[in-house]
Amino acid sequence: MTAFLQWLADAAKARDRAGLRRSVEPVRRGEHLDLAGNDYLGLRRHRAVVAGAVAAAGSYGGGAGASRLVTGTLAIHEDLERALGALTGSPSALVFSTGYHANLSALTALTDDETLIVSDAHAHASLIDGARLSRAAVAVSRHNDVGHVRELLARRPQRRALVVVESVYSVLGDAAPLAELVELTSQHNAVLLIDEAHGIGVVGQRGEGLAAQLGLAGLEHVVLTATLSKSLAAQGGAVLGHPAVREHLVNTARPFIYDTGLAPAATGAALAALKVIAAEPHLPDRARANANRLAAACGLEEPAGAVLSVPMSGPGQALAAVARAEAHGIRVGCFRPPSTPDGSSRLRITAHADHTDDQLEHACAVLRALTSRG
Ligand code: PMP
Repeated sequence: MTAFLQWLADAAKARDRAGLRRSVEPVRRGEHLDLAGNDYLGLRRHRAVVAGAVAAAGSYGGGAGASRLVTGTLAIHEDLERALGALTGSPSALVFSTGYHANLSALTALTDDETLIVSDAHAHASLIDGARLSRAAVAVSRHNDVGHVRELLARRPQRRALVVVESVYSVLGDAAPLAELVELTSQHNAVLLIDEAHGIGVVGQRGEGLAAQLGLAGLEHVVLTATLSKSLAAQGGAVLGHPAVREHLVNTARPFIYDTGLAPAATGAALAALKVIAAEPHLPDRARANANRLAAACGLEEPAGAVLSVPMSGPGQALAAVARAEAHGIRVGCFRPPSTPDGSSRLRITAHADHTDDQLEHACAVLRALTSRG
C-alpha cells in the first residue's frame, strides 16, 4: 500500500473507532417517510415545480453554458432574482449555483482586512468556510449571545464588522435574536448577515422568512443569504440586499465570477416553487403546524421553523435511534461530532407540509417511543 493509501486507511480506522463513519446511499422513493430532508414544503415533486424545470431546460438548455459575466446570464435568472426580492422584501437579489457559493461570496466579498467577522458558534459550514477564505479577522460569538456580540463589536480595532447568523439554525432549529442584533449592528456601525436557508418558505405568513417577517429585510445594513435547495425545492442560492451589495458581488465575488451560472432547470424549478407558495399560502402554516405536532411527540418546545433537534447521549445511541426509526419506515437525520456545533449527538427531525395526518400520527408514535426518557 502506498503511504497515501495507508494514511487514508488510518484515518478511516480512527473514524470507525469513534463511531463516526459516514456513507452515502441512494434513497429509494416511497420506502420511508422523510423526516430528515429539507424539502419543508414538499414541493420537490410538485407538478408545477417539475414543469418549471422542464420548461426552463427546454428553453435554455441543460446548463447556463458560461459564467454569468460572460454569456451565462439568462432572462430567467433575472426573473428569479426579482421573485426572490419580492418574497423577502429585499431591493435586489443575485442568484448563485448553490447556497454554499452564496455564503462564500457574501463572506469574502463583503469584508476586507479592515473588517471583523463575528460569527455565531452554530453558523453553518459554508459561513465558516467563507470567513476562513476572507481576509478579515474572525471572532466566534457564543450561540445567540447578544451580549457577547456587543462585547466583540465594541472592543474591535477594525473599522468594519460583519455579524453572521442564521435566522433559523440548521442543526438546533432555534431562531437568532434578529431584532436585537439588527439594533446592535446599527449602533456599532456593523452589517448583519442573516442566512435564511431554513427560514424562507417556513417562517412568516407567506413564507417570507424571519427577517422579512420582522421587517428587517430592506434595511441598508442587513444582507440575507438563501438557498433554493430547501423550501424552494430546487438547487442554488442567493444573496439579497441593497443594490450596491449586488453590484459589489457581481464585481468582486470569486464564487460568482468564476462559476458557471445557475442551471436553467434549477432556476425554473425555484421560480415555479415561488409561484406555488404564492398560490398556496397555507403551505408555510402547514409546515409549522406539522413541526409543532412532531415537537410535542418528542417532548420539545415549539420550534422556530421546521427543524427539530433531539439531544442523544452519544453517537452510538443516535445511530441506534436512527436504525429503530428506519425499522418503522421513518427516516430521521443524525448529527454527530464534528457536524454538531456543540460536540453533542442529536437526531435532526424535519417537518414537511405535504405529510398526511396518518403519516404524522405514525411518525409521532414512533418518535414518542424513541425519545421517551422515562
Ligand atoms: N446555509 C445553511 C444554513 C444550510 O443549512 C445550507 C445547506 N445545508 C447551506 C447554507 C448551503 O446551501 P446549499 O445546499 O444550497 O449549498
